[in-house]
Amino acid sequence: MLIDSHCHINSEELRADSEAIIRRAGEVGIGKMLIVGCDLEDSIEAVEIAHTPHSSPLTPPCYASIGVHPHEAKRYADVPEKFFDLVNDDKVVAVGEIGLDYHYDLSPRDVQADMFERQLDFAKAHDMPVILHIREAMSDAMKILHRHEGLKLLFHCYAGGLEYLDEVLELGGLCAFGGALTWKGKASEELREVFRRIPAERILLETDCPYMTPAPFRGKLNEPSYIKLVYERAAAERDLSVEELADIIERNAEKFFNWR
Ligand SMILES: [Zn+2]
Ligand SMILES: [Zn+2]
Repeated sequence: MLIDSHCHINSEELRADSEAIIRRAGEVGIGKMLIVGCDLEDSIEAVEIAHTPHSSPLTPPCYASIGVHPHEAKRYADVPEKFFDLVNDDKVVAVGEIGLDYHYDLSPRDVQADMFERQLDFAKAHDMPVILHIREAMSDAMKILHRHEGLKLLFHCYAGGLEYLDEVLELGGLCAFGGALTWKGKASEELREVFRRIPAERILLETDCPYMTPAPFRGKLNEPSYIKLVYERAAAERDLSVEELADIIERNAEKFFNWR
């Protein structure tokens, strides 16, 4: 089975069409997918979609993660109270996406850091794996992560390059790769280099839809069914068949999310 370890079908762009999108995901062979939360409302919606009954036998099970994205950190003084209920929901398998984003700086950096640390403590207290969003902030993020040991970490949309890869692996982290693996250009060349070097047991694939659309659909809205294009390119980069890579990713995801 294929797995989309990070999608936003709860987003404004996709939510109205989520049922058809999930069905198309099943049609290309997706067996499990994770709907990621970015703020309180978005996390609630991720959980709701994950609980929506299947419309066809092909419909893959959906799971949810709950978190406050660094962009939204300024809206919260602490971990939202409601997260303490949601974290016990049987569809919730991770805390995220959380982290630091210095590219857009939509929340002040000290506010991002504070919310990030509070959510790391929350994840630790509830024994949940963590989905990290770190953009142009690896140095500060790694300092924070070293202060919060014992967490399972997934570096979503990994962008730390070879420079941070050893440190990420020493922390026990997994890295998720998406549409950027399929793009032209120097940044994607470098990303493919990282992808070829990382140990097989540390990789996951994701769409991050509606963003990060893989070639040849770049410029259109992304959706989970396009993960197939990411698997094809990723398998070719590592000289594996899609089936071999799919088995590896399925095992990695199972171990990380502990989903059933
Ligand atoms: Zn992200
Ligand atoms: Zn995301």
